[in-house]
Amino acid sequence: MKDLNFVTKILHNKFLKEDPHGALHMPIYDNVAFGFKTAEDIELAFAGKKPAHMYSRISNPTIENFEQKIKAVTDSLGVIALSSGMAAIANVILAIAGQGDNIITSKHLFGNTFSLFEKTLKPWGLESRYADLTKASDLVALIDEKTKAIFFETITNPQLEVVDIEALAKIAKGKGIVLIADTTLTPPYIFNSKEFKVDIEVLSSTKYLSGGATSVGGLIIDNGTFDWSKNDKLKDDVKKFGPNAFLYKLRKEVYRNLGSCLSPYNAFLQSIGLETLVLRIDASCANALEIAKFLDKDKRVKEVNYPGLASSPYYELSNKQFSGKPGSLLTFDLGSKDACYKFMNKLKLVKRSTNLNDNRSLIIHPSSTIFCEYDQKLREEMGLRETMIRLAVGIEDSKDLIYDISQALEV
Ligand SMILES: *Cc1c(COP(=O)(O)O)cnc(C)c1O
Repeated sequence: MKDLNFVTKILHNKFLKEDPHGALHMPIYDNVAFGFKTAEDIELAFAGKKPAHMYSRISNPTIENFEQKIKAVTDSLGVIALSSGMAAIANVILAIAGQGDNIITSKHLFGNTFSLFEKTLKPWGLESRYADLTKASDLVALIDEKTKAIFFETITNPQLEVVDIEALAKIAKGKGIVLIADTTLTPPYIFNSKEFKVDIEVLSSTKYLSGGATSVGGLIIDNGTFDWSKNDKLKDDVKKFGPNAFLYKLRKEVYRNLGSCLSPYNAFLQSIGLETLVLRIDASCANALEIAKFLDKDKRVKEVNYPGLASSPYYELSNKQFSGKPGSLLTFDLGSKDACYKFMNKLKLVKRSTNLNDNRSLIIHPSSTIFCEYDQKLREEMGLRETMIRLAVGIEDSKDLIYDISQALEV
């Protein structure tokens, strides 16, 4: 049969084991342990010689089914589903780097990721070095023999900056270090990380994938492109597990020992979310573009930032990298914090909330909320202005959204 397209693959991906009842949805296996016919069978399972579920913190049929769907559409080597996007990021870093090592990233990062790097990992001796990733030469200067990875977000939140991913991949490959992309804002379907030579993709499935904020979850996708014998922490695992060294290191150690598992119920919800991902991305990206164009024309708005606007410095790059659908997050400037608050408080439909990729449109003032723990100087380095507001566009009818936004702009 010919290779199927994204949504068809998601809907028709086969279960690894046929369901005795012919269930069309993988049922929720909300159990902890699995039994074996013989003592020998348990031994083989523990030794990793015969694939089998043993204990749901390590693997589980419902979670595995969700992972298999993602593997099918990304054509990757393997996928691990976790309890959250943060768990996915922490697991990847802890699997490939240790004390004395460093990773290179940007200060334009999701707030909690920056906190993970600076507050949680730094005291354990793992350094993060910050570069302007839009300037390749900046980051090359920071790489040394202890550099284990380059970590970046495909579209930074909330700066909405887009890096040239092929340029980053070239540098990472040349230096033998892992290229890790947080693709939360541009999940598979709009961004093909393998095609752009990203080694490891991490994302918060809480956002787009979950089906409109149904549940918290995260994903690690190994594209199978990195030679793990180049990584100190993994080179011994390569002898045993070959190209699967990273996935084994997670499953049999880091992921297992940190207890980062997704709940089977959330895996079920996220599998359902995945079935309508394409429809929801198309609808929310179209809405975001329409609203960005409306705001761009409106004299009451000082500046609009959305990579899908032809005036954006990242327009061409994001078209090339994200199939012309650069997410549904946009920011705009209203001149003062006071004006931002007045606008937010007048909204009747758009909800004041911190999430994104809910089915509903959500608004937030980033500098006083998500980034409130950082001082003024750092916020400036992070490109956060207090005159800026972030809108996460949902799938409502765009006419209703524009009506609400327009009435809230009236003074
Ligand atoms: C939300 C988010 C995360 C964290 O995901 P959780 O599922 O909330 O842990 C990481 N990166 C980006 C870009 C995000 O938007």
